[in-house]
Amino acid sequence: MSAVDPAHAARRGPALDVAVVGGGMVGAAAALALARAGFATALVEAHAPKPWQAGDEVDLRVVGLAPSSIALLDGLGVWTSIRAARTGPYAQMHVWDAASGAAIHFDAATEGRDLLGHIVENNLVQWTLWQALDAAGVQRRCPAAVSGLDVRADRVQLELADGGTFGARLVVAADGAASPLRKLAGIAVRSRDYAQRAVVAHVATERPHAQTAWQRFLPTGPLALLPLADGRSSVVWSLPEAEAQRVLALGDADFCNELGVASDFRLGRITATTRRAAFPLKLQLARTYQAERLVLLGDAAHAVHPLAGQGVNLGLRDVVELRDTLLAARAAGADFAAAHVLRRYARRRRSADTLDACSFDALARAFAWRLLPAVAARGVGVAVLDRVTPLKRQLARHAAGV
Ligand SMILES: Cc1cc2nc3c(=O)[nH]c(=O)nc-3n(C[C@H](O)[C@H](O)[C@H](O)COP(=O)(O)OP(=O)(O)OC[C@H]3O[C@@H](n4cnc5c(N)ncnc54)[C@H](O)[C@@H]3O)c2cc1C
Repeated sequence: MSAVDPAHAARRGPALDVAVVGGGMVGAAAALALARAGFATALVEAHAPKPWQAGDEVDLRVVGLAPSSIALLDGLGVWTSIRAARTGPYAQMHVWDAASGAAIHFDAATEGRDLLGHIVENNLVQWTLWQALDAAGVQRRCPAAVSGLDVRADRVQLELADGGTFGARLVVAADGAASPLRKLAGIAVRSRDYAQRAVVAHVATERPHAQTAWQRFLPTGPLALLPLADGRSSVVWSLPEAEAQRVLALGDADFCNELGVASDFRLGRITATTRRAAFPLKLQLARTYQAERLVLLGDAAHAVHPLAGQGVNLGLRDVVELRDTLLAARAAGADFAAAHVLRRYARRRRSADTLDACSFDALARAFAWRLLPAVAARGVGVAVLDRVTPLKRQLARHAAGV
């Protein structure tokens, strides 16, 4: 798939305004947002997304989209299609600690909202964004992989694995947690391997999910049951490596039984399951989000534990900040790719992401405590949080991105 229009490129001069590298959910949203804001934009992606079709089984990779992400997608004109296609709205979230029994409950109504968010297939979000790229004037280069960067005074020359090359005044690296561009730019990361895997599957349960996201913290890691549109729940079960391998190898009946016990039968028995998959978990933060004529966003900049369901939501907040920062620079007559402009984006997003990443990390650690006094203290903490309404509202608003 390639939608490069050389005549259009020539009219724009030798270099495009922006090259977004990586067309996952975050990169595709960035390309669309920047093109809509009037920047001549190209999107380079190694693998074209699989077309989403209503008749297909629900993809195993799903995310919980917060109101801030939905607002961005709505502003980009794609949310109505995503919502109409297949999403699992949820109005409540119930989180409880297996060891102490303490629980915290979030209700959208308390926030004056109908919903806390939607569970959506990654592939549906990505595919819908891709459908909007051409009309917005984004030049698609796919399949194409960036293999080198040559930073010049007025642009970056991107080298492609097939030998091709093109120039852009700014490179936006949205190429995922392993980010080849981050490495090419010489940006180091701070990372911590959780030595855990998230086992994912979709399951049918005896009782309805009641449009609620359920999460139980076990000493081995959190287990989430997220509501899908078709009445099933999507499981995200974080487990130590060896335990995850064992659970992956179980037959369906044994998996359902073990999951029922692990979920405390909150939704009754688990009556059926899809195949399972597992994803390694780590905390990773880039030391900086900025290099000369280059910025990082999405998982290329930060990867967090899925316990708070915030990874892509943080990435989409990066998109909003980047677009607004570049627009403000252009409106002020400044070079939008100048170091001081990129620094503003990088500082703001890195400090916000660091705070979130460290909070999720602290939560993951606190819920792993096994000593009785620590468990009791944690139980008291959770119970207090549930009762102190202003604190709880603050948490809910932060998760919603408002
Ligand atoms: C089990 C699990 C559950 C999760 N649940 C949630 C949740 O509930 N809510 C939430 O917000 N987040 C969640 N996340 C996190 C979320 O899935 C990620 O944050 C998100 O998918 C990252 O998107 P991205 O676009 O930044 O990166 P990616 O999706 O990794 O996209 C990167 C893209 O770059 C391309 N690429 C790489 N290198 C090159 C190159 N050299 N040239 C061209 N293209 C290249 C790749 O092909 C890929 O398409 C979860 C994660 C896991 C593992």
